[in-house]
Amino acid sequence: GNGCASPGPTLLFVKTSRAEEQGRRFYACSACRDRKDCSFFQWEDEKVSEARLAAREEYNRNHQPSFTHRQNAERLKNFILLPLSQRKFCQDCQQLLLPAEWQEHSGHQFQCDISTAQLKTPSQLLYPLENKKTNAQYLFADRSCQFLLDLIIALGFRRVLSVGTPRLHEMIQSKASQDRDFSVRSLLLDIDFRYSQFYTEDEFCHYNMFNHYFFGGEAAHETCQQFLYQDTGERVIMVTDPPFGGLVEALASSFKKLMAMWRETEKEGDDNQEMPMFWIFPYFFESRILEFFPSFSMMDYQVDYDNHALYKHGKTGRRQSPVRIFTNITPGRIVLPIEEGYRFCTICQRYVSSGNQHCEICNSCTSKDGRRWKHCALCNKCVKPSWIHCDKCNCCALQDHSCERTDAGCFVCGKAGHKRSTCARLSLA
Ligand code: SAH
Ligand code: ZN
Ligand code: ZN
Ligand code: ZN
Ligand code: ZN
Repeated sequence: GNGCASPGPTLLFVKTSRAEEQGRRFYACSACRDRKDCSFFQWEDEKVSEARLAAREEYNRNHQPSFTHRQNAERLKNFILLPLSQRKFCQDCQQLLLPAEWQEHSGHQFQCDISTAQLKTPSQLLYPLENKKTNAQYLFADRSCQFLLDLIIALGFRRVLSVGTPRLHEMIQSKASQDRDFSVRSLLLDIDFRYSQFYTEDEFCHYNMFNHYFFGGEAAHETCQQFLYQDTGERVIMVTDPPFGGLVEALASSFKKLMAMWRETEKEGDDNQEMPMFWIFPYFFESRILEFFPSFSMMDYQVDYDNHALYKHGKTGRRQSPVRIFTNITPGRIVLPIEEGYRFCTICQRYVSSGNQHCEICNSCTSKDGRRWKHCALCNKCVKPSWIHCDKCNCCALQDHSCERTDAGCFVCGKAGHKRSTCARLSLA
């Protein structure tokens, strides 16, 4: 697939089987942790044969992107000079074509008359990658994207490091090109190299957020560093919306490295400051994220997507989105739209969803999913409305849960007490 054209460094994983006590360590591509998605897999203690090395090199050669970012930037300049009738995009290869290349793509499906507006909204031209675990692309609904941008501006930021948020990036880029007074700038960091066809090397870096790897090497790193450099009055915020199958630990480690790059560029001011950040992720990862970023809190705002049936806005009669904004900005400053039902809780000093009731006993607005939660005196906390207290398990759970406790934590949310198959992330019941 496209996502793994050149995987960059690999991560070391531990594979445990029931038979062995100790896990056997192996390397896998950190962009595609699933073996089905990527052929790169190697035991740590394994000797790799010459033949396999050769095969791997062959594979890498064949899966290299056809053009470098520099070449693509040059090609875009030429593409723009073409009359509309000669502006073709190959849907099979996901590539803008220059007239001399049409021949090579004969038999492929073309999209024709690519307008300048279309070149400015590549996320609508490219098909969303659908690789389930590692590279599923869920694009923001326009309403959510506009909300994020308005919020960013209201908070006084003028520069956005967009990590895995191509649609936010393109909204900023296209507004900037249409309106001279619009002073927000954005740099996109993403693993999807198809975007290199639409942005210059100052606007897009091919980046792997699972292992903080810049495919463009030192120059790309420098571009990012430069972007993070704070001039007076041009404050930077990082916004990221990683694939939900991504390991929180690996992501957090990369984001800390991006924060460190920001801190290095911070010439004045104290060292304790953190780069402001929005990490967009499902609410059931709250404890995992807070483990790595204790200064973060979760906002009630429900982020909606265009191409995800489950994660669309509740008001349209669909299920409510479980995706939230985690941020190190003071919660009270994050103003949520009243017209969508959010209200300000004066005790909690933050905006909450309409169904989220302030619990007198917990002394907080406790709902995580937007529905009204109820307090359980035995658990001494608020729980989902559909849960009841189970004396056998000594905690609240769904009525039809099975009482056997599972020892190992859940792979998805990291919590004990359930397995991946019954994790809240799969069912919002
Ligand atoms: N809602 C966002 C898109 C989120 S989908 C928007 O509309 O802008 C997740 C994004 O992360 C995709 O753009 C995908 O290409 C990118 N991505 C996936 N794996 C990545 C990785 N390992 N490193 C960097 N970006 C990655
Ligand atoms: Zn083609
Ligand atoms: Zn409250
Ligand atoms: Zn309570
Ligand atoms: Zn209970």
